[in-house]
Amino acid sequence: MKVFINPGHDKIHDSGATNDILGIRECDITYVIGALVEKYLNNVGIETKNLQSDNLCNDTNYNDRPIAVCDLANNWGADLFISIHCNSFANPAANGTEVEVFSFNTQAHKLATCIQNQIVNSIHTTDRGVKEYPSLKVLKHTVMPAVLVETAFISNMEDAKKLIENKDAIARAIARGVTDYMQLN
Ligand SMILES: [Zn+2]
Repeated sequence: MKVFINPGHDKIHDSGATNDILGIRECDITYVIGALVEKYLNNVGIETKNLQSDNLCNDTNYNDRPIAVCDLANNWGADLFISIHCNSFANPAANGTEVEVFSFNTQAHKLATCIQNQIVNSIHTTDRGVKEYPSLKVLKHTVMPAVLVETAFISNMEDAKKLIENKDAIARAIARGVTDYMQLN
């Protein structure tokens, strides 16, 4: 089993969303979670590659990079692709965890459900469920089951505190989601 891990955004070119009150950036949180997911998957014998990059549909500065990440994962022969993000919204009341897939009723949907359940049960975020988001480049241009995990809302104070304090728990939950998925197949 080979899992490609893609923490969202970029520490230099694109911080992703930020919470300026708490002084945290999405790129730093996803970087830490991604490294921990890699460690926990390696611990149970799952091979990984980990590359942080921007990967949303509306990236303007370096449009080719999401495709490059997808190409890398495709050429490596990854069995699964997991992008890790923090959600953000103008209304600070918005909160919770969701996992996004290219389309429902797929292997990606099964993987997304496993990861979603593990995170919500672990850090007790609002369960926003699995959502279809076909315009996301990392979901569109990858050939293996691919999911984008929106761990919690960095723009919501309660969620943001969970992102600060529970990065390890979130990473363990994502890794358990992968092993739960493997037991389905
Ligand atoms: Zn993001």
